[in-house]
Amino acid sequence: MKITRTVAELRDALAPERRAGRSIGLVPTMGSLHEGHLALLRRAREACDVVVMSLFVNPTQFGPSEDLDAYPRDEQRDAALAEDEGVDLLFAPAAEEVYPPGFATTVTVAGPTGVLDGAPERRGPEHFAGVTTVVTKLLNMASPDVAYFGQKDAQQALVIRWLVRDLDIPVRIEVCPTVRDADGLALSSRNAYLSPAERERALGLSRALRAAEAEVAAGHLDAAAVLAAARAQLDQHGIDPEYLELRSAADLSPAERVNGSTLLAVAAQVGRARLIDNTILGGTS
Ligand code: AMP
Repeated sequence: MKITRTVAELRDALAPERRAGRSIGLVPTMGSLHEGHLALLRRAREACDVVVMSLFVNPTQFGPSEDLDAYPRDEQRDAALAEDEGVDLLFAPAAEEVYPPGFATTVTVAGPTGVLDGAPERRGPEHFAGVTTVVTKLLNMASPDVAYFGQKDAQQALVIRWLVRDLDIPVRIEVCPTVRDADGLALSSRNAYLSPAERERALGLSRALRAAEAEVAAGHLDAAAVLAAARAQLDQHGIDPEYLELRSAADLSPAERVNGSTLLAVAAQVGRARLIDNTILGGTS
């Protein structure tokens, strides 16, 4: 596995591959790799000739009161895991390489970034502006044929699909299913912040989603019934969510009923960790 730190090195490494007609897959990450990231790498490895993983803790998607400084970082461990998964190129730039002095451009997707995590009282649309700007840059840097994202960050995946469609970026976006621990907790780099007792409480999120799925399977499709079933589980675990909302999986407009592909998304602060999870009801994820 080759490690590159500059855009020029990355492009130099990829140019001959592209000329030879080899397909390129990109997996953007902020490191602190877990099985969720590894599933994306495996999917890329199966489908593409050349696999690039980016490792960059993007400062512009963290709010002033968020955990940028505390975010877990261990490049050596991440590089070893990436190499084990058959990654060809690790792109690990410094912040100044991505945001050189005078950097002045922001890419924003207007519609779906102002709700759920993007609501002004939460992370705000600036969070997604940070994501869409860095993802646009990574797609321009690597020019992959396919880029891989996780359904765990459902709103992020939707916003990135929107971005790529609106700006005609020539890449296929593939969204991979959420990887969970055996007890249901969605894997997240932020799970490292949880004490054993907090981890137990955090199970409330996935259990709320499973309760909502059971409600739908029993034929109760109204938002009120679905949300009540989910909320009962959150209450049992002592979790007061930042949000628990049912929205269209196509455009994040509010849903009164599970109708076609409907997103149930939840976010909650558990100890120091801000956790999110989601499921698609009434359709395929
Ligand atoms: P991050 O390093 O948190 O920015 O995540 C990098 C990519 O991994 C994003 O596309 C995430 O959606 C994805 N990801 C994170 N956690 C999971 C998970 N538990 N299952 C599947 N994908 C995930």
